[in-house]
Amino acid sequence: MKITGGCHCRKITYEAVIDLDNVVICHCTDCQSLSGSAFRTVAMSELGAFKFLSGDPKMYVKTGDSGNEREQAFCSDCGSPIYSTSIGDSPRQYGIRLGTVDQRNQIAPKKQKWIGSSQPWSQEIGSLPTTEKK
Ligand SMILES: [Zn+2]
Ligand SMILES: [Zn+2]
Repeated sequence: MKITGGCHCRKITYEAVIDLDNVVICHCTDCQSLSGSAFRTVAMSELGAFKFLSGDPKMYVKTGDSGNEREQAFCSDCGSPIYSTSIGDSPRQYGIRLGTVDQRNQIAPKKQKWIGSSQPWSQEIGSLPTTEKK
C-alpha cells in the first residue's frame, strides 16, 4: 500500500510503500523508551520503498542485544519518531512508526512481538472505561 506521512510539526514528510501483512505491535523495552509509550506500532516498508519529501531528520543509532545497529530517524524540532532501519548500503526495509502515517486509520497490526516484556495491562485496555475526549 502506498502511504504518506509526517512528524507532528510537519517539517518532515515522506512517502513509502508498506506491506499490509507486516504491521506489528512491538512490546520490547527499547520501543517502550524510544516511543515514550507502553508499546510501538510499526508498518514495515517494502525494500527501499521510503522517500523523504521534506525535512531533514536527526538520526540516533541504537545497538540492540544482538549487536546489530539500527538507525532511528526522528524530527529534531518536535521529536516525533519516524522510522528505524538497518545500517549499511544494502537495500533497506524501514520500520515506519504508524502514528506518523496519514492513512493509519486504514492499517491494522497483524502480530505482537516481544510479548514477554509487555506491560501486563496492555492486553486488557478494551475493558477500561472510555470517553470521547479527555
Ligand atoms: Zn517535526
Ligand atoms: Zn521493539
